[in-house]
Amino acid sequence: MHQFGSRKVVVIGTGRVGSHAALSLMFNQLVDEIVLLDVNAEAAYAEMVDLKDWTSALNVHVKVRTGTYEDCADARFVIMTAGRHRRPGESRLQMLDGTFQILRGIVDPLKASGFHGICISVSNPADVVAEYLYRELGLPRSHCFGTGTALDTFRMRRAVGNRIALERSQVQAVVMGEHGDSSFIPTSHVFLAGVPLTEYVRMRPEQADLLDFDSISEQVRNAGANIIKGKGATEFGIGATVAKIVSSILHNEKRVIPLSAHLEGEYGERDVSVGVPCLVGEDGIEHIYELELSDAELGALHNSCEIIRGSFATLG
Ligand code: NAD
Repeated sequence: MHQFGSRKVVVIGTGRVGSHAALSLMFNQLVDEIVLLDVNAEAAYAEMVDLKDWTSALNVHVKVRTGTYEDCADARFVIMTAGRHRRPGESRLQMLDGTFQILRGIVDPLKASGFHGICISVSNPADVVAEYLYRELGLPRSHCFGTGTALDTFRMRRAVGNRIALERSQVQAVVMGEHGDSSFIPTSHVFLAGVPLTEYVRMRPEQADLLDFDSISEQVRNAGANIIKGKGATEFGIGATVAKIVSSILHNEKRVIPLSAHLEGEYGERDVSVGVPCLVGEDGIEHIYELELSDAELGALHNSCEIIRGSFATLG
């Protein structure tokens, strides 16, 4: 078995998300080598040259090249972004058929390469894809997961911070569930400036209306669709999200990020990947935090799981 000689990343799918994930990794100087792999070899080549120009302009020494599945053998990470961008008005679940036709062609060569690093999937529908890759690739669940509700969480923290004029890192809260229309924010676990939500509202009653988490959830759920309506795709936020996860692993940061993780009894669920708070360190997902949710929140999580399982079942 190959050892990891370097910080090598293979990005599968070099469209808008793949290219910006690569760029974010390079900006943060997280990797030594980026291999771009796309069914559209001409597009991958063009992205490679454009990214090499970036390294030249900033005099950054990252090796960027196009490659094949053989490159996955000693890759530390595979970032899965193959698919196509979501169309305006389309839900993520409506992308299921197209994405799976693509993924079915990818898992065999990926497995055959002997890949034994960490697979981070981004392609939508994110939770169904994460579960599919977990089952197919034979990697431990700590090494095969999706970005899940990570980006939703970053969006939510900004939205809350903007509403109440509080720096976003002071908003300790997560979005959980499906990366999609059934996601939810467990308000029983919202802390603002280290203070539980109810106590915060008691101290700042004039901000109570601003902290309407139904409308915050709605705002966060619609955020991706609104960007797609305006520019046809989302790319910068998700690219940076991938870099944040990779950084947490490479630097063993022990950061809690909500990721789409395969559950084995946590929250009373199993055989499904869904967005839950995960401790991320050098071994990938090192722990899944099982929050004590209210009945309504647990119901929302089960609802998300049912939706994801239902979509998965249609794959046959
Ligand atoms: P895109 O159309 O710009 O790029 C997709 C790329 O995948 C294309 O370059 C295409 O040629 C390539 N591809 C298709 N089949 C392939 C195959 N068999 N092997 C290798 N490459 C293949 O789309 P995008 O905007 O980059 O989005 C990519 C995926 O990421 C979509 O599923 C999108 O919905 C998803 N996404 C997820 C999140 C998230 O938060 N999870 C955010 C944004 C986008």
